[in-house]
Amino acid sequence: MLLYEPPLKRNMRDYGITIPIPISRSSQIMAFLTEQGVRFPSYTLASAAEALAIAAPFISRADLERVHSPEYVAHLYDPAGLEQVILSTYELINDDGSYNRYEPETATKPLTDLFANQLEQINGTYLACRLALADDGHFCFYLGGGSHHARYDAGSGFCILNDIIIALRKLQVEEHVGLIWIIDVDAHKGDGSAELVRLSRERGETFSGKNPEIFTLSIHMAHGWPLDEASLAKAIPGHAPLVESDIDIPIASGEEPLYLPRLAEGLALIERRSAGRIPDLALVVDGVDPYRRDGLASSEPLALSLAQCVARDRFIHAFLKKRCIPSAWLMAGGYGKHAWEPTARFLASL
Ligand SMILES: [Zn+2]
Repeated sequence: MLLYEPPLKRNMRDYGITIPIPISRSSQIMAFLTEQGVRFPSYTLASAAEALAIAAPFISRADLERVHSPEYVAHLYDPAGLEQVILSTYELINDDGSYNRYEPETATKPLTDLFANQLEQINGTYLACRLALADDGHFCFYLGGGSHHARYDAGSGFCILNDIIIALRKLQVEEHVGLIWIIDVDAHKGDGSAELVRLSRERGETFSGKNPEIFTLSIHMAHGWPLDEASLAKAIPGHAPLVESDIDIPIASGEEPLYLPRLAEGLALIERRSAGRIPDLALVVDGVDPYRRDGLASSEPLALSLAQCVARDRFIHAFLKKRCIPSAWLMAGGYGKHAWEPTARFLASL
């Protein structure tokens, strides 16, 4: 099934941001499926909540504080602090104070409205997981979500809050699930998610009586994240971006033909790591920025063809289906006018 919220509120240009995040990616995917005569049962956030009998608001401040530092969360609930977080998270300000890809004079909405959008994405990710767990086909694709760079105490790479870990910890606390796999195939390493999982493991945090655990797998471009030498020089080992997922699979430029075999090895490894335990849920961070025609210049080092992107998703889908593992999929990274193509083709192929 699909979880789809018409993206009326998500035009970055409204906020004066000129980053090429297409407004219409999810609606183009929906239009393609309709044109192809492909029918999925689909929900909006409101109809999903109604079907699952969950009362709004689903995500509370306490859910955020379970995952991020309470000081950072307090910063987000203070308008001045929030604006600073957004400027740095969306990389809109340079070290000298000048703006980067940001034209505040063209904005028609305040930057701080983006926080509400992030909260909506967390709701979406949480509901997608609940739908996947409730669905006979064990599958839900949410046309949103995937803020995998957000860290314990900071935003990063367009991600203010980590919707993935916030939603998954809530599901564990509510005892819907114990073991979860994150399979992150976005072009960029899922460093924020890896950090949050490692930190809570180091602290020995327990979230319920269901032996909760999250294992992280990230397959990503070997070079190009973080974006520049300066941020790499400031990075602290053991913290994002210099933190290891449980399974990291870096793919160098030119190694695209090895992408699928390495992904297969990675999935076999995560299964071995789980020592016979079948996960209650897999969360697939299904970014399409590895796609050759994606519009983000910095993800060009990894360039999969459309057929390779679709094969990637079909391989993961079949792997999970064979093991009867419910899966929630998030749209994650994808930029420019072709970003809708891999996801649309994958969904149509099902
Ligand atoms: Zn990405």
